[in-house]
Amino acid sequence: MIGQGVSDEANAFAAKGGGDVCLIDNDAVANYSASTYKDAIRAAIDATGADVVLLSNTPSGWDVAPRIAAGLDAAFVTDCFDIEDEGGNLVFLRRVFNGKLDARVVPSAGTIVATMQPGATAPYEGSTSGSVSALDVAFGDQKSRFVETRVAESKGVDLTKADIIVSGGRGVGDPEKFPEVIQPLADALGGAMGASRPVVDAGWLPHEYQVGSSGQIVTPKLYIACGISGAIQHLVGMKASNFIIAINKDPDAPIFEVADLGVVADLFEVVPALTDAVKEAKG
Ligand SMILES: Cc1cc2nc3c(=O)[nH]c(=O)nc-3n(C[C@H](O)[C@H](O)[C@H](O)COP(=O)(O)OP(=O)(O)OC[C@H]3O[C@@H](n4cnc5c(N)ncnc54)[C@H](O)[C@@H]3O)c2cc1C
Repeated sequence: MIGQGVSDEANAFAAKGGGDVCLIDNDAVANYSASTYKDAIRAAIDATGADVVLLSNTPSGWDVAPRIAAGLDAAFVTDCFDIEDEGGNLVFLRRVFNGKLDARVVPSAGTIVATMQPGATAPYEGSTSGSVSALDVAFGDQKSRFVETRVAESKGVDLTKADIIVSGGRGVGDPEKFPEVIQPLADALGGAMGASRPVVDAGWLPHEYQVGSSGQIVTPKLYIACGISGAIQHLVGMKASNFIIAINKDPDAPIFEVADLGVVADLFEVVPALTDAVKEAKG
């Protein structure tokens, strides 16, 4: 547990079965910086003798994990969604070729550093006891330092608060189809519009519409995925939704694995018909 004034969080973490929680409570790590976090994580590894180090596959994880792995001369596996034990060897699973294949990676002996997709595995439900050990880390001179946080201007879309989200993916095919086809269904249902990352990367919608590991993590009552294949990075952002409807013309699309209701069809036929039906039902 790294930060300033985070001892309550460390205790809460230990009480959830967090094992021996190393607490590094220091003003040098009050804000994230790769160099101070690297020193803090390294101090915890040295103190515990950890030979498997799991970090989050998030922007700060991408930043700090390679530094840790390089410093330890460790095997390094990124973007994993699961770990299996195969006869005493740890096997790290990661999706490759846009989610079409799973790679099973067995690192060579020695220390292993891996980054894990947030939310890809269920929370640990084990013992309810643990302990906290405070670690004193001398941060010394750093090559970079935290200066300030600038919060991006919000355009008013907060998907984390929406009860209903209708998201469009690359299958929507054209930026103009979002206001013409996806938004009307969201409006008819009284919900918000979301998107997958390629839609945002292409500049069709701003980043606050993006659902997924590098966008918003959402848990609406109803999530409708239109023309979204269901890559793991999208799924981690929406699979905790209460009810999921997927509309996709590919019956083998992975989105159907998490859908409560799957519609194998062209979204341009189904979505406008659904919008009309919702409007009619609402009078
Ligand atoms: C580090 C990292 C972070 C990422 N973060 C995110 C993230 O936060 N969010 C995210 O979404 N992705 C993220 N991605 C990208 C992710 O891996 C996938 O590439 C992306 O989710 C695919 O988006 P998509 O489903 O819209 O597109 P595609 O995978 O191209 O799928 C399009 C789907 O539309 C269907 N389709 C096409 N036409 C129609 C039609 N007329 N009617 C019905 N269906 C149709 C197709 O059958 C296909 O299944 C990330 C990737 C990386 C490496």
